[in-house]
Amino acid sequence: MTRTLDHSQQLDLGLTWRNSFAQLGEDFYTLLDAQTLSKPYWVGRSAAVALEIGLHEDWLKSDELLEALIGNRPIAGTRPLASVYSGHQFGQWAGQLGDGRALLLGDTAAGLELQLKGAGLTPYSRMGDGRAVLRSSIREFLCSEAMHGLGIASSRALCVIGSDAPVRREILETAAVVTRVAPSFIRFGHFEHFSYNGQHGQLKTLADHVIDRHYPHCRDNADDNPYAALLQAVSLRTATMAAQWQAVGFCHGVMNTDNMSILGLTLDYGPFQFLDTFDPAHVCNHSDTSGRYAFNRQPAIAYWNLSSLAQALLPLIGEQDLAIAALDSFKSSFTNALEALMRAKLGILASDETQQATQRALTEDVLALLARNRVDYSIFWRRLSHSGAGSDTGAVRELFFDQAGIEAWLQRWSEGVSAFSADQVSALMLRSNPKYVLRNHLGEQAIRAARAKDFTQVDSLLMLLESPFDEHPAYEAYADFPPDWASGIEISCSS
Ligand code: AMP
Ligand code: MG
Repeated sequence: MTRTLDHSQQLDLGLTWRNSFAQLGEDFYTLLDAQTLSKPYWVGRSAAVALEIGLHEDWLKSDELLEALIGNRPIAGTRPLASVYSGHQFGQWAGQLGDGRALLLGDTAAGLELQLKGAGLTPYSRMGDGRAVLRSSIREFLCSEAMHGLGIASSRALCVIGSDAPVRREILETAAVVTRVAPSFIRFGHFEHFSYNGQHGQLKTLADHVIDRHYPHCRDNADDNPYAALLQAVSLRTATMAAQWQAVGFCHGVMNTDNMSILGLTLDYGPFQFLDTFDPAHVCNHSDTSGRYAFNRQPAIAYWNLSSLAQALLPLIGEQDLAIAALDSFKSSFTNALEALMRAKLGILASDETQQATQRALTEDVLALLARNRVDYSIFWRRLSHSGAGSDTGAVRELFFDQAGIEAWLQRWSEGVSAFSADQVSALMLRSNPKYVLRNHLGEQAIRAARAKDFTQVDSLLMLLESPFDEHPAYEAYADFPPDWASGIEISCSS
């Protein structure tokens, strides 16, 4: 693949680059530069992420960085590469995939990797064009930071940069590049790749790399099998992430094994959605015709994906029983994590057995009521948080057709939390039930404005989603019910 970057024009960002992934060797990737894009412009920037990388905020105003992060100018010290991985897509073995449009620049001294998503063709682009469109790039940028604001582990996003270069999807759109940031972009699919190809030496190199850099405690006990310990550690992190998705009402949309992070980060934002009305069987991805990735199937799919990872790691783990035991930890950790999150959402301040039973009964019944009454999920929890532990529930009750049902439930709930101080109940609930989530229609409005080169909504949403539990009284409209047209938004795999 020919590239035209002028390497005498390298931009020095003053960062120390370690390029740890590049040291794995060329079985793991192909080195290459980005493809250039004309006339880049800033669409969204995160000062918080710049700070985490150790990049001075002023860089986010510089034309040099703009050119570098759209892929037009090399960055001194980086070794851009596209990595190879495989994976299961929609339950089927898909064979080799790889970074078809993402380039890893390297990792910095802060322990974070930078990746340019949408930076052009790579040897793994298959039928694709190597590009990402403005629409999906804005969604990825905002949702990365929204998840972080919610306290959910996720890849982060430093910025999104647009170009007017045309990109063909269902309609003609324009290109954009997101600079993604994470401690590692390694996926379950990286392990599957080497395992399925019988490259067990490379499989071990990869597992050792991940353990050494991210899970060193897996080697703490010399008697333990470090690869089984790795599988268990990944299972725990994945369980935590899946529980948080369910509690907040987040639908990922494409939980293929190539989109599952080995660090339990929410990764690869495509057709994701935060629930508007609570529908447990909601399918957010219009390409998912069988509903494999429906909201209420996500925990089971996370386990299925971990089983695929276990299968891939089996040559290293050796004994099947060890792999099964490691995997098994997912179930109890997921349940424990979700129950703790639901207790917090309900304002239950203790976790003894009685409170656990109260939580289980209240959660089961309220979710059934929310589904039957088609109630907005986030608005319900936020209004409940503001109800003074049950002293003022009018705003909650008006969300339901079934008045008798919700009144009976509210009565049981206020009895359930009556042992605690009402102020403490409200405080816990207000920091557990976000006011602002990235609903589809909010993203859509920001995208429409951005297409007309107005980026103020991207900025406003970023600001709100960075602290979604705060009131931000001037922005009530962003916390309101979705408009009628929101249910007509179709989000597919096309990005
Ligand atoms: P995704 O569904 O976005 O997780 O992508 C699945 C695979 O397709 C990954 O290997 C991506 O790199 C690749 N891919 C998706 N879109 C494109 C594109 N426009 N050009 C090249 N590769 C792509
Ligand atoms: Mg992907």
